[in-house]
Amino acid sequence: RAKVKGRNRTAQFEEGRSAQALRWLDLQQALALALQRDEFVLHYQPITTITGGIAAGVEALVRWNRPGHGLIPPDEFISVAESSGLIEPLGAWVLGEALRQLSAWKLTDRVPPGFYVSVNLSPVQLMDRSLVSNITRTIADHGLVGAELTLEMTETALIDDEEIMLATVDALASAGISLSIDDFGTGYSSLARLRHLPAKQLKVDRSFVAGMTTDSRDAALVAAVIGLAHEFGMTCVAEGVETAEQLDELTRLGCDYAQGYLLGRPMKSADLEKVWDQAVAV
Ligand code: C2E
Ligand code: MG
Ligand code: MG
Ligand code: MG
Repeated sequence: RAKVKGRNRTAQFEEGRSAQALRWLDLQQALALALQRDEFVLHYQPITTITGGIAAGVEALVRWNRPGHGLIPPDEFISVAESSGLIEPLGAWVLGEALRQLSAWKLTDRVPPGFYVSVNLSPVQLMDRSLVSNITRTIADHGLVGAELTLEMTETALIDDEEIMLATVDALASAGISLSIDDFGTGYSSLARLRHLPAKQLKVDRSFVAGMTTDSRDAALVAAVIGLAHEFGMTCVAEGVETAEQLDELTRLGCDYAQGYLLGRPMKSADLEKVWDQAVAV
């Protein structure tokens, strides 16, 4: 009896696994089609100076406008894209669209000089040897310069193949592109690696920001990341800022930039333009 039960359990387990594999395959095929059908959209979230509240730039965040499913957040499809070779075309689309949008905003005088767009890079993209030439060509195609683009990478993104990664980020930095370490403090510690990286910016992970006004250890972590950034000659962005108390404390700690629902949710470009146009009219 026990044996039968065990076998059933194995069968169930395998059924579960194959159902999962099927769903994954389904999603992968749907993603490939979505790329052809142009179903992705970018939302933009302001990154503002900590004191003035002026948008210094925006982070581009991808969403999938899947017919019959609504707007799907990136956490639900980026990993499938990464493990199926679709992240390269998707990443190229995101970059092209973000830079096209920036150049359109410049043409309509909507953004101040020095305004930049920040784009997330997947670790998989960092292993792509044609990444640098693709990016620099796209920047030039839109009549922009490297300094108008920031690329966000996570610490975990920085461990796969150290040599290729370092060569890639050095080439990106040489092209004038700013590098930002996203979700800093989570994932794998890269304090030793940080010395070798030509990064211009650290983004404090939003989990620390969330706790900073109630938990003294989170507050200490946020202060330490800000201090570290400055010691290394980098600027610091706090992500996930939701309350005025957090913003006050970050200001007191000398953080340079803030991003979060308090300052603006990720928005489609038309909505962000409305916000900007209203601000100008006041
Ligand atoms: P991330 O780069 O750390 O982006 C910040 C995430 O925090 C975004 O989630 C944003 O909507 C959310 N957020 C911003 N302010 C607040 C806040 O005040 N409170 C809270 N609770 N959340 C806030 P989103 O858009 O769902 O993106 C999730 C992740 O997906 C991103 O994290 C990034 O790692 C990845 N991602 C997004 N777009 C792309 C892309 O084009 N390429 C790649 N490779 N990854 C992307
Ligand atoms: Mg990011
Ligand atoms: Mg982040
Ligand atoms: Mg994140």
